[in-house]
Amino acid sequence: MLHNEGEVYKVYEIEDKSFTIYYGYYSDLDREGEVLLPIFPNFYLDPVYTKEGFPYCTRIQDACHHYCCRHGGSGDGWCSDCVYYPDESMEIAVCMCNKRKITKKDSMEDKRGNVRNEEESYEKENKKKESII
Ligand code: SF4
Repeated sequence: MLHNEGEVYKVYEIEDKSFTIYYGYYSDLDREGEVLLPIFPNFYLDPVYTKEGFPYCTRIQDACHHYCCRHGGSGDGWCSDCVYYPDESMEIAVCMCNKRKITKKDSMEDKRGNVRNEEESYEKENKKKESII
């Protein structure tokens, strides 16, 4: 079945977030081949966390240094092979590694009701943290 660029591939509802995946091209080079692919978020560059602070990842995301292969040995080095990825068949999942979990600052619960701004700074701060890991 042929698809059009921008057509919805799937909508994933996982924990408290929703991800809409569209058909498209990862690069101009892919465009030359005219093969449309589902374009998944790059959680390595743009991390997204559950309310509890666990990071989302994709099945084919390059493993981080907390990778622990579920099959023994070194595996393919993708998140799907890692014991912290809940189900190899899932295209997007929540990484359950406690070392990758981030904790919200107490200021998140501040009583000024400025939660949105606090959440934005929290995300920025943790992006910095991710880039250091
Ligand atoms: S710890 Fe999480 S992010 Fe790291 S490789 Fe395993 S599943 Fe992926």
